[in-house]
Amino acid sequence: MHKVPLFINGSNFSSQSDSRIAVHNPADNSVIAEVPNTTEAEIDLAVKAAADAFKTWRQVPVVERARVMMTYQALLKQHQDEIAELLSHDTGKVIADARGELWRGIEVVEQAINMPSLLMGETVENVARNIDTASYLQPLGVCVGITPFNFPAMIPLWMFPLAIAAGNTFILKPSEQDPLVPMRLAELFTEAGCPDGVLNVVHGGKEQVEQLLAHGDVRAVSFVGSVPVGQHVYRTATANMKRAQCLAGAKNHMVIMPDANKDQVINNLIGAGMGAAGQRCMAISVAIFVGEAEAWIDQLAEAISKIRPGLWNDTDAAFGPVISARAKARIVQLIAQGKKEGANCLLDGSMFTLPGHDNGHWVGPTLFRDVTPDMSIYREEIFGPVLCCLCVESLDEAIALINNNPFGNGTSIFTASGATARQFRFEAEVGQVGINVPIPVALPFFSFTGWKQSFYGDLHAYGKEGVRFYTQAKTVTTRWFADEANSGPNMTIRLQE
Ligand code: NAD
Repeated sequence: MHKVPLFINGSNFSSQSDSRIAVHNPADNSVIAEVPNTTEAEIDLAVKAAADAFKTWRQVPVVERARVMMTYQALLKQHQDEIAELLSHDTGKVIADARGELWRGIEVVEQAINMPSLLMGETVENVARNIDTASYLQPLGVCVGITPFNFPAMIPLWMFPLAIAAGNTFILKPSEQDPLVPMRLAELFTEAGCPDGVLNVVHGGKEQVEQLLAHGDVRAVSFVGSVPVGQHVYRTATANMKRAQCLAGAKNHMVIMPDANKDQVINNLIGAGMGAAGQRCMAISVAIFVGEAEAWIDQLAEAISKIRPGLWNDTDAAFGPVISARAKARIVQLIAQGKKEGANCLLDGSMFTLPGHDNGHWVGPTLFRDVTPDMSIYREEIFGPVLCCLCVESLDEAIALINNNPFGNGTSIFTASGATARQFRFEAEVGQVGINVPIPVALPFFSFTGWKQSFYGDLHAYGKEGVRFYTQAKTVTTRWFADEANSGPNMTIRLQE
């Protein structure tokens, strides 16, 4: 049995914990590894390693820190196939999707390479006579990242490269469900030249997260995961006086106008709804058909009925299994609930199994129509290959549905009309909007701007906001005396009229 080590102070470190969590291959439920529930003393050790490393890492010139990122980017590209394969085994994702996920993470490393420019402050000369002001962005210290199961490469890479390039040190607590890729990312980061203690990885669940959130030496917490955990982490971190950015769950709607290109709509909906077995925080889980577009649902059902899940290396498979038996049970229960509450189930994937892999966590593509906003399948984030169709008469009605939804991660509209698209863009109370783009995740020079219950915090992940999250501004006001006459003590605030 592969016992996943901790990664502390630059080395793999065998945990002394006797409490362990099994890591399963979702395709057949076989146990492929065990992660430790890191002990209290080991968490302290990781924080101490990061705090000690911060003293020297923050002195390293930013161009040298950026060079580590350049080497890291090259190493990640060199090991792309190997990491993608590991990711497929750990998550069940089909290989093309695993490669795509890693690529999205590599792009953030590329952004971190730009850190010298990103850290540039502001200056104003002569703000008062002979006085100049400049601002600098300085690192915070020890930062913590807590990541979800669904993107074990991309989401850790959203966090530690930027934090570390900005001069911080980092402790990653990856999902206990698929920790193998994050460990490989840490090993390669060391190979890229990251000094000992700058990046550390600990494992576990709630207990380990609580200890990190309470630790006096931790300055900032980045979290990505479900809404209840995100709310808890945000409340606890901020109550403990830490900076926090918590990205949470979603229910993303796509609006289909009757003037849209029908074939594009169908293809894009299938990919955005079913890709990665619907286990993406930006997956489309609700399709709103406006007016005559309703007639396209039958064709959508026919197209979806032709795709199926399969093994990671099956090039005909559209997606893999869901992550766990628990996740599958919840999805199947929600599908049953949807039927009970009166939605019309056009395709039901709850009975799907892959011959020869019957113990895997398979769910086939599922499509509902006649869904209403009071139904569980509309209210809950299902996080499975389940698409809900609703029909409305107007764009205003579609926008009202979206704005009444508590989530605000992503939304999109398919239309041929600029005026319709502009109204949608302006009125949708959602942080990421796609126009004829189903999953509008911007490249990492922008930020990942979820709203409402999809995000708790002030500064979003990556982009300029990500850099601000991992830094604090220092403004310095300077005067050098030349030949001015000394006018004596100044007891009041001077007017500069
Ligand atoms: P999760 O909330 O179960 O777990 C996330 C992390 O929190 C894991 O590292 C886990 O060990 C830890 N954790 C779990 N319970 C905890 C507790 N009680 N206290 C402290 N820490 C705890 O999420 P998941 O199932 O791994 O991931 C799926 C969820 O993540 C979905 O809701 C999805 O929408 C969301 N997600 C959001 C984004 C985004 O960008 N908004 C991106 C990816 C995933």
